[in-house]
Amino acid sequence: QIQRALRSLCIPLERLHIMKGHMIQDMCKGLSRQTHAQAKVRMLPTYLCSTPNGTEKGNFLVVELCQNQVRTLLVTLFGDGNVSPQIVYKIFDLPDDITHGEGEALFDFIAQCVSQFLAETTSPDTGSSEERLPLGFVFPFTCKQTQLDKAELISWSKGFSCSGVVGKDVVQMLQSAINKQELSRVDVVALMNDTVGTLMTCSTEGRPCEIAVVADKGSNCCFMAEAYLVETAEETSGRMCVNTEWGCFGDDGTLNDIFTPYDVSVDEESCNPGKKRFEKLVGTLYLGEIVRHALIALAAEKAIFTGIDIAVLKEKGVFTIQHVLDISNNEDGTTVVKRVLEVLGLQPNERDCGRVQQICRAVMGRAATLHAVGLSAILSYMCQTRDLESLMVNVGVEGELYTGYNRFEEILQSVSRLLSPECMATLLPSRDGSGRGAAMVTAVALRLAAQRRMVNEVLGPLRLTRADLEKVQALMRQEMERGLGKSTNATASVRMLPTYVTHTPDGTERGDFLALDLGGTNFRVLVVRVTEQGISMASEIYVIPVAIMQGTGEKLFDHIIDCIIDFQKKQNMMTQKLPLGFTFSFPCQQVGLDKALLLTWTKGFTASGCVGQDVVQLLRDAARRKQHTGLQVVALLNDTVGTMMSCGYDDPKCEIGLIVGTGTNACYMEEMKNVGTVEGDEGRMCINMEWGAFGDNGCLDHIFTHFDRVVDETTINPGKQRFEKLISGMYLGEIVRQILLVMTEKQLMFQGKPSPKLLTRNIFQTKFLSSIEVNGLALRQIRTILNELDLEASFEDSLLLREVCQTVSLRAAQLCAAGLAAVVEKMRENRGLDQLSVSVGVDGTLYKLHPCFSKNLQKTLKDLAPNCDVAFHLSEDGSGKGAALVAAVASRAA
Ligand code: ADP
Ligand code: MG
Repeated sequence: QIQRALRSLCIPLERLHIMKGHMIQDMCKGLSRQTHAQAKVRMLPTYLCSTPNGTEKGNFLVVELCQNQVRTLLVTLFGDGNVSPQIVYKIFDLPDDITHGEGEALFDFIAQCVSQFLAETTSPDTGSSEERLPLGFVFPFTCKQTQLDKAELISWSKGFSCSGVVGKDVVQMLQSAINKQELSRVDVVALMNDTVGTLMTCSTEGRPCEIAVVADKGSNCCFMAEAYLVETAEETSGRMCVNTEWGCFGDDGTLNDIFTPYDVSVDEESCNPGKKRFEKLVGTLYLGEIVRHALIALAAEKAIFTGIDIAVLKEKGVFTIQHVLDISNNEDGTTVVKRVLEVLGLQPNERDCGRVQQICRAVMGRAATLHAVGLSAILSYMCQTRDLESLMVNVGVEGELYTGYNRFEEILQSVSRLLSPECMATLLPSRDGSGRGAAMVTAVALRLAAQRRMVNEVLGPLRLTRADLEKVQALMRQEMERGLGKSTNATASVRMLPTYVTHTPDGTERGDFLALDLGGTNFRVLVVRVTEQGISMASEIYVIPVAIMQGTGEKLFDHIIDCIIDFQKKQNMMTQKLPLGFTFSFPCQQVGLDKALLLTWTKGFTASGCVGQDVVQLLRDAARRKQHTGLQVVALLNDTVGTMMSCGYDDPKCEIGLIVGTGTNACYMEEMKNVGTVEGDEGRMCINMEWGAFGDNGCLDHIFTHFDRVVDETTINPGKQRFEKLISGMYLGEIVRQILLVMTEKQLMFQGKPSPKLLTRNIFQTKFLSSIEVNGLALRQIRTILNELDLEASFEDSLLLREVCQTVSLRAAQLCAAGLAAVVEKMRENRGLDQLSVSVGVDGTLYKLHPCFSKNLQKTLKDLAPNCDVAFHLSEDGSGKGAALVAAVASRAA
């Protein structure tokens, strides 16, 4: 019988695994918005979003409302890693009538305690009456918390029943009472449950504690969860401490099969049968009772105490936790056991003593094991949701079971290791309980608020309001008009270059064409076949060495001809003479479809002797030098035009081209009558805006930030392409890097220490923004990137980095949208339409691969130009296909 009893109290390993799974399921249920209301494990958000980092400093007042006491503490932190806080405290008795009286009286009483405490503890460093004194309020009742300093009481418990408090914000009530005491320098900054305190007291410098287990009369646990998983709270970024309230685990029956008859009796005799089932297996309030019922049952079966009067065991509560602890912990034979049982009034023999000890140890061991199950559920959940292969974490532990039962720590450690082998938990004892923890919560809240203010100061100038964007749109429109005007063109920052492309494709174009693509990341030669079945292409990528990009023009164009010859050889088409379209993505003054004067190099090109020259002629000259007679250059076009044309082949509404890659630019179909720089009023012509230079005349100076100016100054073309430098792939990473440098200097990131790598220009690539901003929190990617830059980043550093990237890429998308809004609105007005329906062909890796850029662009455009329906098509190989189509359309129009 003893063996059977012991076996029923011992839970097999596979059963523990299943329980762990149930616990995780229930935690998810508690976190989900849909299922939260029915969940047994409540998973309450605490709005505590960070653990102490050791820099917290200053005086903090704490008020703790306890069963029949009000405790007041003054905690001084020295910014020394929280190793030696100074604590002064005073405890006030709470009169019984107040706990049942009016709510206002309760809070007045608390405020009076604070007032009296402060009057008695004024010292030179806490006494200055100007200094604000933040207060943390430990309020151990079930609340609906919506901010760290906003919590409505849901219901009283623990014998409290003050009127007029349920449904009210208790922070507000305390603050009002405090103000009445003329303590206006005291600010109630944070309200918290007592479990959170344990978590906070165990965190010291370089050693954040992210889980706290309270194994006391009741049992509970809190931990730092990924905030986006806490759907019941608004916060989506970073982490938030969640109060699991795991004592209620099993209230839906999940634990029924491990309940012994003793547990059932304990539950039935409790004041809340069927509730807090987990807590009743593990809380020290119940462990003595479980033992008592086991002994009664075993005595009835004559397995122990045969022939002894056990009437004394019938009394509820007679077997206390202290008895169980004394019996379980005793290692030297049965003398102590015998003494304990005799004090209770029993007369056990030697064998009884041994058996009682076995039962006590089984009950205690089970309680420790079940704590380990709960802990391992949290460990595995954290490991999984943080996208880690293994988790190292500190766990603060507190409570009577932990301090009293000598095997608790060992069992908790070994069983959780067995159930969650991927996690390594280090148990830390909690010091000084919830009071000091409350001071920490308050201190952390203030540190975060101060940090937030500084971050906002740094990022504020990069955040554009709707009015800012409208202004950019209006300026773009103004610059467009000036660029189109014959007399104003020369001084406009947006050049509005005519392209001599007058029609978009209609899908009937046919033929074989050669195409060149220069001015993107790669130089390419292509052959494009446009047939009834569609468009097919073959291409080769050729490298243009920097020495050639920045050497002489002759060398550059000779190199291009060499590449063409190589390509034609490879394609076996040396003898064919195909029409050639040349995608040349630099600003040109075009005077015909096949005649274009280079205005200026961009994107790292500086080849000499080209600016002011006809690019088509430079190409023809090189062909002559190389004795290549098979070239027939029919058109030169910008890549924006190619992009528009290639999408136009499939969608006749596509009358805008947009590039957001290394650089940014746009083109669109303008009415000839508006194009002052070209003769003729009939029809339309595609205008290459060269909008990258928008602002080069100073009109965007109000938008530029310190970071933009630094980035601009370090480029090879300072003062030029200012709009492009806010938007495109070549610059966004560098803007982010400049911000990181300033944030580090202000001690907001990387503990104030930049790595030598971070000081390297252009080391932060724009593609990093894409990896960092993907949906959810891609912590692993962020860590990889930061490690590559030799940066040791804390979780908060990662969050800030993501915020910086988001700010920079959002601004880029919004500015791009403001430019496009000016374009579509002009087209709508040109055509006298109330509503314009138009498509944009888009190319560029930033647009295509960044996870939010296109979405932000489209959303902002919709907002700025509500009367235009704008569809976006991704261009596939616009430069190649587009060049062929320009050549084809030209021959059709001719
Ligand atoms: P180009 O504009 O020169 O024709 P792309 O359209 O491919 O070439 O754009 C290249 C630019 O795209 C690079 O400057 C780089 O900064 C940026 N880029 C590359 N990969 C990514 C990515 N994954 N996310 C965002 N930007 C990227
Ligand atoms: Mg390109």
